[in-house]
Amino acid sequence: MSRAVAEINLSAIKSNLDLIKSKTKSQILAVVKANAYGHGLIPVAKAAVESGADWLGTALLEEAIELRKSGISTPIIAWLTPLGEDFRSALEMNIDLSISSLEVLEEIVLASNQMNKVPRLHIEIDTGMSRGGVRDDWERLFIQVGELVKSNKINLVGIWTHFARADEPEEQMNSTQLSQLYDRVSASEKIGIKPEFIHIANSAAALTNKQSHQSIVRWGIGLYGLSPDINSLGSSKTLNLQPVMKLKAKLNLVKQVEAGATVGYGATAVTTKDTKLGVVAMGYADGIPRNANSNAGVFVAGKRAAIIGRVSMDQFVVDLGIDSLAKTGDEVIVFGDGSAGEYTTDEWAKACGSINYEIVTRIGPRVPRIYTYERT
Ligand SMILES: *Cc1c(COP(=O)(O)O)cnc(C)c1O
Repeated sequence: MSRAVAEINLSAIKSNLDLIKSKTKSQILAVVKANAYGHGLIPVAKAAVESGADWLGTALLEEAIELRKSGISTPIIAWLTPLGEDFRSALEMNIDLSISSLEVLEEIVLASNQMNKVPRLHIEIDTGMSRGGVRDDWERLFIQVGELVKSNKINLVGIWTHFARADEPEEQMNSTQLSQLYDRVSASEKIGIKPEFIHIANSAAALTNKQSHQSIVRWGIGLYGLSPDINSLGSSKTLNLQPVMKLKAKLNLVKQVEAGATVGYGATAVTTKDTKLGVVAMGYADGIPRNANSNAGVFVAGKRAAIIGRVSMDQFVVDLGIDSLAKTGDEVIVFGDGSAGEYTTDEWAKACGSINYEIVTRIGPRVPRIYTYERT
């Protein structure tokens, strides 16, 4: 094994897709943005398509283009579309685009006029995130879209929005957002632009709010076997999700130190008794959070060993304990599904004030991904 590797279990991708398919009749869009949440764009996308995903979704158009270049012909939506993007490639490659403004609509239509292609568009509505999506000037956008649809200049494929608080299923805001989406859809129908697809649900909504499923469910974190929110929805295990990524590394060095040894930059940690330390060959350059504390660590030689001292760029140190049998060169599990006793991404997230999404997504390009097919 190299000094660090992320094992990506593609059988777990299938299992997590099967799970959501068993819970809904809607089409499933596998969200593969950000290098498939750090798991590797193309292998994950191919596994998702083979396992029956109806759509793929990316944030960036570049990501969608990469998918097409790898030979994937499944419908794809790219939903982050600033002005000046490569819309010609999107049109050539049959990539659906989301629009939130007249400006972007005009630019896409201009590109399509030059190419004699009809763009496939989804209007994003801002129903409370105040992020992407059209808000106050939705009527002007709808009127313009209506005219372009009538003259066959565009194909309005979908209308969609995004939940702000789907991981808090009891929140009133969820139904407010859903009903605002309904309002916009009926307004669009009044001006004769009936979209084929309505979509709003992310993983949390897909798991907790059947009414939100509509025509497409956008299955993101759940595809990777992680819980959208362990406090409100429970862990991967309670949700029957299988974590896809297992992060492993090597112990560069094992050494014995006396009580009172200072560890790492700033000498922020001091050993309280004689112990063995393990130096793990990963650091914040690889996506190990610098502010992780001793509530995270690694699993080695049959036990957990907690972080001691600050995480550095390429290394961090764990306290193995004086009786540890770990040796220089041993393999450690940084995180996994927890079944062997290893830390989970949820524990890592807690140890640095983040969420499991960020833990997996930030595992960097220096860490090779290895694809496995382990059935559990
Ligand atoms: C990332 C994203 C999702 C997926 O969210 P999860 O919580 O990971 O399921 C869905 N829709 C949009 C627009 C997104 O950006």
